[in-house]
Amino acid sequence: DHRDLHSFPTRRSSDLFNYSTKDACLSNKTILVTGAGAGIGRTAALTYAQLGATVILLGKTVSKLEAVYDEIVALGLAEPAIIPLDLKGATKQNYIDMSSTIAGQFGHLDGVLLNASILGELTPFTQMHEQIFNDVMKVNVTAQCLLAQTLIPTLLLAPNASLVFTSSGVGSQGRAYWGQYSISKFATEGMMQVIADEYEGSNLRTNAINPGATNTNMRSCAFPAENKDEIAIPEDIMPLYVYLMSDDSLEVNGQTLKAQ
Ligand code: NAP
Repeated sequence: DHRDLHSFPTRRSSDLFNYSTKDACLSNKTILVTGAGAGIGRTAALTYAQLGATVILLGKTVSKLEAVYDEIVALGLAEPAIIPLDLKGATKQNYIDMSSTIAGQFGHLDGVLLNASILGELTPFTQMHEQIFNDVMKVNVTAQCLLAQTLIPTLLLAPNASLVFTSSGVGSQGRAYWGQYSISKFATEGMMQVIADEYEGSNLRTNAINPGATNTNMRSCAFPAENKDEIAIPEDIMPLYVYLMSDDSLEVNGQTLKAQ
């Protein structure tokens, strides 16, 4: 099975190489997942719920969030909450309202997975469109910043909290034609490091995941011709997603970890 080839994670000590998720390791935790209606975010939300967490499903397309909600409820797991929010159009006030709704309903947040993002288009640098550049920066950078700014106070109310950004291979090494997306992921890693440094020594840890090639809509847009059987599926990369939300990662801060 090609999936056996995925080592995990590559930048941590060997005791994590075979990190296996323990039943109920996320029980009593409330975890917000952005982009929870599809792709990696959907699988992360389902996985967190299966391990005992109450999940808050944030995303753009309500019907997709409802389908994930229904799946979780059908499995008899803790009832999730749904927050419809379009990261492209939302205003600062929308984020403030969203955050105070969560604080009012749940009291605190134990984890936030900032997963939603957009690819824009792959194009030569000189031909990047200003509008697409701005959209990618809005969703992948500005919205992540506003989410983090407004959710950190609620994370700080938890005994221990984990804020997880999502980067990419092109977030630490630029690549031809990946233009605005690559730039946005460098910014994501920078934002993660700034927050991690500010809250070093507190109950909040902040890290980033590089998922690696994973079979989703976004991957198909970037690589329409590739053989999808040869890349990971979202389920394959969940160990790192669980590790960073579990108490096993309490000492980990300011790192970008590879899921494959
Ligand atoms: P995906 O299948 O395209 O899913 C993206 C998710 O983000 C969807 O749930 C989508 O919701 C949501 N989203 C997009 N625009 C939004 C907006 N304006 N407001 C709110 N939600 C929005 O992508 P994926 O492959 O799972 O990617 C997840 C993360 O991993 C991304 O940060 C991506 O950059 C990163 N990543 C992925 C790969 C890979 O190979 N798949 C590799 C490296 C990094 P809708 O469906 O409702 O639009």
